[in-house]
Amino acid sequence: MIVAIDGPAASGKSTTAIGVAKSLGITYLDTGAMYRAVTLGLIENNIKFEDSLELKNYLIQIKLEFAEDKSGTLLFLNGSNVTKKIRTSLVTKNVSEVSALKIVRKFMVDIQREIAKNYDCVLEGRDIGTVVFPNADFKFFLVANEKSRAKRRFDDLSKSGLLDSIGLDDVLKDLNKRDYKDSTRRNSPLKKAYDAKTIDSTNLTINEVIDKIVNIINKKRTLD
Ligand code: C5P
Repeated sequence: MIVAIDGPAASGKSTTAIGVAKSLGITYLDTGAMYRAVTLGLIENNIKFEDSLELKNYLIQIKLEFAEDKSGTLLFLNGSNVTKKIRTSLVTKNVSEVSALKIVRKFMVDIQREIAKNYDCVLEGRDIGTVVFPNADFKFFLVANEKSRAKRRFDDLSKSGLLDSIGLDDVLKDLNKRDYKDSTRRNSPLKKAYDAKTIDSTNLTINEVIDKIVNIINKKRTLD
């Protein structure tokens, strides 16, 4: 079973997807973390995003591994733990440029399909219901108003010590900038799949969003 959860930045996708996967006892895949890891790798190796040969050479040797520990999901890039580094503002500022590249998307989508083919899986991202798994069993598109998205991201950054002394307004500006880039790119833009169910999390707690999704899935599964 594939559950696709797409939506704009800070709409609550990650926490929701983790909760849904936990409640259903299935695997969770954060595809945004994968694009962030590639972005970090390119920056750390001084590879110019527009240098297609270098980019390809980098991508073919890349190894991404997820692992679990008591703090949650960890991500390793070529053996090194990048869980925290991929959330820094340097990576966040550059990730939309990298994820817009066709060759990067092809590599990531292949890996995502490969991982999910062996498991029941909840995948969250921007193009899961439209491109990666257009035949997903369940598709959700998570939205929330600007104020609650900015507040959510601000709190997350502040908790992880990654706020870089910016205020709520700057956080909102950055989110909107990234969403604009992600939804206007030519390759696999962020958009709601025609058959995805929209869930507005503005006035819901994350647990209510999780319950809503899990109920929809369980109801359909008992009918099948
Ligand atoms: O979900 P998160 O905000 O961590 O995603 C970081 C970036 O990765 C997004 O802004 C987008 O550019 C890219 N992304 C994507 N396709 C996905 C998931 C993320 O292009 N399926």
